Parts: sequence; structure tokens; C-alpha cells
Amino acid sequence: MDTAKNVLDRIAHLITSVRDSKDVDELRIVQHQIEVLQQEHLATQKETRKVAAENLELASKVKVLEQQIARLKVEGKEIVAGPDEFIEHLGVLFSRKAGGRYLRKPFCPKCQRAMKEVSPQLPFTCSGCKTSTPFKASEINDVILRLERS
Ligand SMILES: [Zn+2]
Repeated sequence: MDTAKNVLDRIAHLITSVRDSKDVDELRIVQHQIEVLQQEHLATQKETRKVAAENLELASKVKVLEQQIARLKVEGKEIVAGPDEFIEHLGVLFSRKAGGRYLRKPFCPKCQRAMKEVSPQLPFTCSGCKTSTPFKASEINDVILRLERS
């Protein structure tokens, strides 16, 4: 804020050299206004530094979360929907999407993770606790259809 300091110095000099007291009063007002602007500028600079630091912190948190999501995807654990979106049907859970449709996969009633299809002729199985569905993977469309009509 060197510009403000230069202007304030000039005004201080003018105040000592002008003869008319009305001009001196005007100059003192301008001087005060510049001092206020200078303080506001300092406060803004401080706030900007604070926000920049917070931004940096958030960016590093986002990076950590993105790495966690990538790791979970690699491990095959899908991110599950909130528990209130689950509907129990045939002893397992189904996730209801917006609009009332269901995801075409069952979720484990104990772990709430997506159950795996091993083969169309076998039940879906939870890779965590080994719970399996009372229906074969190939029957999923009929199961969903009945659930959506119920
Ligand atoms: Zn399970």
C-alpha cells in the first residue's frame, strides 16, 4: 500500500502549505478517508491469507478422500446408500433410487455392502459375512419387478 502512503504524505505536506482553512479541512477529510481505506485493505489482505490457508487445507482433505474412494473401488467395496434408502425384501436389502426404482443388486442385511454375483445359477453372496440371497442371481429382474409392484 505504498500508493496510499505517498498520497498521505502529499496531503500532510499540502495541509502545512495551504493558507485557506477550508482547504485544510477538506484535506483532513480526504486524509481520514484514505486511512480508513488503508485499514480496510489490511483487513482484506489478512482475510485473503486466512481463506487461502483454509483452501489449501480443504484441498489436501479432498485429496485424501479421493484416494480413499479410489482405494475402496479397487477393493470392490461399493459405497452404499444411506440406511433409510434400503428396503428389506426376501431377507436382504434393496436400495431405492430417486423416482422409486431399485438398484438391480441386493445389499447384505448385516454389512449393508453390495452382494456379489458369483454365477447366474448361484445366489448373490456377501463377500464380508458370506450371507447369501434366497434367490439365484439370474432371478434378480423378477425379484426387482415384484418389489417394485409391491
Ligand atoms: Zn455381509
